Formats: sequence, C-alpha cells, structure tokens
Amino acid sequence: QSLLQVKDLSVSIDNELPILHKINLDIKPGETHVLMGPNGAGKSTLGYTLMGNPHYQVTDGSIVFEGEDITHASADKRAKAGMFLSFQNPLEVPGISLGSFIRNAYHAQTGAPVKLLAFQKSLKAAMELLSMDESYADRDLNVGFSGGEKKKAEILQLLMLNPKLAILDETDSGLDVDAVRTVSKGIEEYQKKKDGALLIITHSTKILESLHVDYTHVLVKGNIVHTGDGTLVDEINEHGFERFVSELGN
Ligand code: ADP
Ligand code: MG
Ligand code: MG
Repeated sequence: QSLLQVKDLSVSIDNELPILHKINLDIKPGETHVLMGPNGAGKSTLGYTLMGNPHYQVTDGSIVFEGEDITHASADKRAKAGMFLSFQNPLEVPGISLGSFIRNAYHAQTGAPVKLLAFQKSLKAAMELLSMDESYADRDLNVGFSGGEKKKAEILQLLMLNPKLAILDETDSGLDVDAVRTVSKGIEEYQKKKDGALLIITHSTKILESLHVDYTHVLVKGNIVHTGDGTLVDEINEHGFERFVSELGN
C-alpha cells in the first residue's frame, strides 16, 4: 500500500503562475525517492505543496497520505499525520531554543506528554551522531548557526520526530565535505528505522553516495520527465540534465 500518492498534481503560485504540471508520485513505506532537476524546475515548489504551504495552490489533481486525501489539509494537520519537510533555508527563531522547539514539535505531533529524561537522552544521542555540541540544544533555534549547523539541526529534528515521510529540500546545499558526510550519516540513521520513507530533493549527488535509493525522478520545467532506479543518480552525475531537457522539447 502507498504512503504518499500524488495524482496529476498541478500547482500555481499565488493563483497565477503555473509551476508544476500533472505530477505523479507513489511512495511506499520505507522507500527512498530522489527528486533531481535543474534550478528553477519546481523541486521546492513540490516540497512546499506537499507540506501545505498556502502560497502554492493545487489547481488540479490530489495528494493522498495513508489513504486520506490531504490535498487541502493544513500544514499542521500534515505534520501530525507524520509528514516532515526540511527547509532549503531554515528559519532563525529567536527566543526558542533548539531543544524546546523539538520538544514542542514532538509533543504537538504525538499529542502525548513528553517523558523528559528519555527525551533528553535520545536528543543527546542524536546530537552525538551528528557531531553537534550538546550546548546547541540550549541555543536559540538557528540564530547565529552556520549553514552546516542549520542543516544538522534539521536532521536532528528528523531523527527526533521520526516522521513517516521526510521531505528533505537540498539539505546538502552549501555544505562542506565533512558536513555532507555528517548529514548523510543522519539520514542513513533515519533509513535504518523501519518504514521511514524519504523524498530527497537535491541537485548534487554527493549526499546520495552512501544512501540506498529506490527511485530517482527527474523534474524539468515542472514536469517529471523520467523515473529510474538508484543508478540514474550516477548517470546524472556524469552527464547532467541535458538529455532530459532535450527530451522534454520533443
Ligand atoms: P527549484 O527548487 O527546482 O530550484 P522552485 O520550486 O524554487 O525551483 O521554483 C520553480 C519556479 O517557480 C521558478 O521559476 C521560481 O522562480 C518560481 N517561484 C518559486 N517560488 C516563487 C514565489 N514565491 N513567487 C514567485 N515565483 C516563485
Ligand atoms: Mg534550487
Ligand atoms: Mg529549490
């Protein structure tokens, strides 16, 4: 059975500009899908739309999560249902520490009281895995964090919230080699947990080197023009998107 089913999804921005055209995606529990494509193809638009950002209007088609039509559900409802989006440019939030932000999100998602000691223990373990100093848990969310630290903080949320579907939007962009490796290790840890599905949006392939990939989709000008297995990543790495761009022209 499907976890996420996207059917003929068309999306416009602010009710005028059509960006995505009849997108189809079927993600099953535990699968890792990669979405690649040139700048401006609409990758982030798809991520935002799946998560319910109100700037993006669905003009056609549907989004079904665990059998429920969530095409017009609020972002909050989607998060509670088990969807997670890591942002390309994480926001700075003064006044809320990273640790309490994650605790609040965790509480909001499960609805159950958070067992504080157990929470602190798993937070500490996850931070260790991501080579994050413990003190970051007490710092204001993303305020003064470097690009790499912001991305690590996103992966920390992923590991702590343990969603059913995680959409990672260019979590690797702007990171040095070591940070990419650390972020990739965090994603691998999430993959190890049962049934956690991933949609990894990227236009580089470094982050995918050590990750298992089930499907690769190529998005060009708002259309998924090609879907292949994990080896497609290597092919794109070598030859770029040119072939797919010209395919679309025909
Ligand atoms: P990608 O993530 O693949 O680089 P985006 O989804 O960010 O692509 O953008 C797709 C297209 O939509 C681009 O042409 C971009 O300029 C446009 N776009 C994205 N967000 C907005 C917005 N908020 N307002 C206007 N245009 C936008
Ligand atoms: Mg981009
Ligand atoms: Mg983008």
